[in-house]
This record gives sequence, C-alpha cells and structure tokens, in this order.
Amino acid sequence: MSKGEFYDTGWRPNDDVHRDEDGRPHDHPGVQEDAVLGVRASRALAMHELLVEKGVINDGEVDEAISRWSERVPSNGATLVAKAWSDPEFRTRLLEHPKETVVESGFVPEHNADIIVLENTSQVQHMVVCTLCSCYPTALLGPPPDWYKSFSYRSRAVTEPRKVMSEFGLELEHDVEVRVVDSNSELRFLVIPRRPEGTEGWSEAQLATLVTRDSMIGVAAPLTPGRV
Ligand code: FE
Repeated sequence: MSKGEFYDTGWRPNDDVHRDEDGRPHDHPGVQEDAVLGVRASRALAMHELLVEKGVINDGEVDEAISRWSERVPSNGATLVAKAWSDPEFRTRLLEHPKETVVESGFVPEHNADIIVLENTSQVQHMVVCTLCSCYPTALLGPPPDWYKSFSYRSRAVTEPRKVMSEFGLELEHDVEVRVVDSNSELRFLVIPRRPEGTEGWSEAQLATLVTRDSMIGVAAPLTPGRV
C-alpha cells in the first residue's frame, strides 16, 4: 500500500444514529464516525483493542493519557517566563530551584525528569537540543515540533547554532556567547528569553503573549510589542 491510500477496515456504523460508548444517541446526529480509517489509524485502533483485550490497559487510562497530553502546551512555559520577567523573587527561585518551582506552579515534569532553567542575557544565548533523540520539557512546552526531532537540527544545533538561529530570524551580535545545551531523558531545559523592550508596565498575562515556544527553546527571540 502506498502512502496516502486508505485501508477499509470493514467497520460500519450500525445505524444512522450516532451513539456514545454507553449506547445513548448523541445530540448531534449529523456527526458520524469515519467509516473508512487511514492505515495508521487502523493500526493504532487494532493495537488499542488488543491491549485492552489482554488487560494491559483499559479505556479509562487511554482517555486520561490523552487528557494529560492536551494540558501540555507552550502557554505553560510562557506563564513561568512572564512571571519571571515580572517578579524578581520568582525569577531567582525559578533559576535556583527550577524543578520545585515548576511543580509548585502546578506542572508535572514528564518521567519525573529534572529541569534546569537558563536565562538569556545581552551576553549569553542558550539554545536547547537533544542530540540523541527528542528529549524536551513537554509539561512546559507541549510535544516537541518535528524540526526539533530532525537529524539536521540535532546536528546543526551543535555545529552551526548561529546559522540555525538566523534561520529562525534571530541575528545575534558577534560578542554574544552561544551555549548549546543537550537534553536527555533525565534532564530537560527551559530558556527564559530576554524580555522585549517596550514592555514596561505590562501585566504577566500581556507579557505571556510575547513568549513563543521557539524562544523558550532558545532558537528565536520572543515577539515584540508590535508583533503580537
Ligand atoms: Fe532525547
């Protein structure tokens, strides 16, 4: 089967009424399950059914896992960065006791991994990579983007970090020291980017709108007031 073809699983809805898992009719009868699934969806469904059948997992656990994933978004990290920009005491605590502060703030580090928070300044720019695979602070930034997992990023972040940053629109002054840090399964990094100029007096909520995922990886600058 070539890419893009669909595999007909043979499954069809029983009737014209869409029902939930308890057999109750939905109040949106026009919404139907897809009768034909893509090949990956079919494979995932088959694996799911087998794992449930063999008692390895139950449906509730899967729903919980999906729900946990949906809570992992870059705005979590942005909240911490905006608070660090606004509150010097919080900034110090986040830098000196990062994991405790992340947990106190209501975020659960994946795999109980340790976390280090690094601050970019006018002298130092930190940039995060996982040279081995894709280790990433998903609790704070959501799932890693595809480019972060790519071989080209994993190698070029080490060999030519300035060039990579310039491709993300960040042109560093030559006297700025670049420090590339390598994540692993037990240790993740969060970067506090430099607070943009022209944001004096902004609230934490306003500041958070400037903090992008890429700026917390360290490959890009945060947005500026005119670019929100
Ligand atoms: Fe990794």
